[in-house]
Amino acid sequence: MTDDVVLLAVPVIRQEYHWDCGLACSKMVLKYLQSIDDDQFQRACWELKLTESVWTIDLAYLMNHIGVRHCFYTQTLGVDKGLKTRYNKNNKYFVTVKKGISVSVQEIQTHLQEGHVAIVLVNAVVLCCELCSSPVKYCCFLPVGQKCFCRKPEYQGHFVVVCGFNRTTDSIYYNNPAYSDRVCSTSVGNFEEARRSYGTDEDILFIYKDH
Ligand SMILES: [Zn+2]
Repeated sequence: MTDDVVLLAVPVIRQEYHWDCGLACSKMVLKYLQSIDDDQFQRACWELKLTESVWTIDLAYLMNHIGVRHCFYTQTLGVDKGLKTRYNKNNKYFVTVKKGISVSVQEIQTHLQEGHVAIVLVNAVVLCCELCSSPVKYCCFLPVGQKCFCRKPEYQGHFVVVCGFNRTTDSIYYNNPAYSDRVCSTSVGNFEEARRSYGTDEDILFIYKDH
């Protein structure tokens, strides 16, 4: 690792269902931090009732539940983001949320340079890996292995873990939970377009190595 190239050893874990890319990303991050085993992870998900569509705020609650230092940046926190149903009056959890803040790619790079990682909400339709030959087929939220026959949608929310960058080639490295065997790479331009795409609210969850 130099100042120009950072690639953190974040394990790649494949998602199991069509809805749990966020949980797979959380698992990758927690394995990287060595802060939890699989049983504890399952229990935490069960305790927070993360058994269906998972939003970025859920991942922040999960990190909080497990005791991992984090900061959730978002442009908006609407009632449609899982808040209304899951975290109402009886809310006994705290998460660190910074609303209306746009995180720059430089800030992400500095974060990575310190050994920390981030889970980013992207538009999977826009995000395009330069190493993978074919785009990921997740366009209709089908379970893994099922074929898709629908038209390409304009927005497909998907979580990835940002784990490095190369300033010389202007690349961003990330783990895509659609795969289990590779680290993906894209240009800073494509990464920026995918995470700032309409629909993401620029959600990004910074996670810190030190608790
Ligand atoms: Zn790839």
